[in-house]
Amino acid sequence: MVSSGGRRHIEDQRVWAVRAARLFDGYAVRAGRPLVLIEGSRIAGVDMTGAAPSADLRVLDLGDATLLPGLIDSHVHLAFDPDDRSKQAMADEDTETTLTRMVFHAGQQLRAGVTTVRDLGDRHFLALSLRDRYMAGLEMGPEVVAAGPPITRTRGHCWFLGGEADGIAAVEATVRKHIAHGVDVVKIMATGGVTTPGWGPHQSQYTRDELAAVTRVAHAHGRPVTAHAHGRQGMADAVAAGVNGLEHASFFTEDGVEPDWKTVEAVVQAGIFIGATEAWLPTGSMIAPHMAERVEQRSANFARMHREGARLVCCSDAGAGPRKPHGVLPYGIIHFGSLGLTNTEALASATSLAAQACGLADRKGSIATGYDADLIAVAGNPLQHLETLLDIRAVIRAGRLFQS
Ligand SMILES: [Zn+2]
Repeated sequence: MVSSGGRRHIEDQRVWAVRAARLFDGYAVRAGRPLVLIEGSRIAGVDMTGAAPSADLRVLDLGDATLLPGLIDSHVHLAFDPDDRSKQAMADEDTETTLTRMVFHAGQQLRAGVTTVRDLGDRHFLALSLRDRYMAGLEMGPEVVAAGPPITRTRGHCWFLGGEADGIAAVEATVRKHIAHGVDVVKIMATGGVTTPGWGPHQSQYTRDELAAVTRVAHAHGRPVTAHAHGRQGMADAVAAGVNGLEHASFFTEDGVEPDWKTVEAVVQAGIFIGATEAWLPTGSMIAPHMAERVEQRSANFARMHREGARLVCCSDAGAGPRKPHGVLPYGIIHFGSLGLTNTEALASATSLAAQACGLADRKGSIATGYDADLIAVAGNPLQHLETLLDIRAVIRAGRLFQS
């Protein structure tokens, strides 16, 4: 056992270890005082025997806590200030101001136990700069998977991020430009959104052919495509176009919510990930109060989609509004547990399943030998009470303890 004064330097050892009462390995909770060995930025071993470690091994013993893989939020906007309701002022902002805000938000994510974020919309490809900065290892931040500016119709949803493109030739050229910049994933606004006036969320911004052009070019370069899709038709078109993920998946019509179970069947068949943006602070004002009832209906549809076999990834859309601050993801996992998913499934939805959705399943989302040493510890047992996710006892990112 290392005293708290020793925590600061424990990870300077070549090999050190963290111990708790139990661990969630991304798939199931295992008891028996696991000892996770960390070497550099990787997990060097997981000892479930409960045996005493060798005397010269430095061990951070967290007592009655549960170790989990670092949480993965597959839908965030580091550039968005959650309290800024219009966001459009960003179009005139200098990049240094935006980047400073993004670093602050990335720190908030880490503090909440989110060690990986997939940024699905920034300006000037700044999330890629941040990704590369953190990868260099000189400063600590979450791993960033980045889409760059989302592709959108002229003056369409989030146009001010700089990804406007209309027609097949233009969307193809934009995908190529994004790939040249080094994006990890292509994000397209298949429908309008709640926050940008001009296009209603139920309205399609692109035809099925335009969406198919996007997936064709992206897939030819080995990049997945995820589509922001609130509207029923836009969802069906995106699925037919071969996207890998659907964000929101709201099934909004002009005046309500009307799920199309044929589309859900196609989603299940194709193994498309559903980015269920269900994380909110429990209180506070909604960015669009008139949407509250629809969002509740959407939650009920998610429960059925899960029963039908859709892969629901718990994510936040952090930054989108005042109830979606950066680091809000644990509230979404708690909410998932009330939707009809088991607590184990809820935890997997933001760890092992989210890693698959982000293309990181070979090194993240699980506690296993050879995986990245991105770990968190929460008080008590989240399998019994998901609320323990709000009581973070330690965050380890790439083998180093995060000191908040
Ligand atoms: Zn979003």
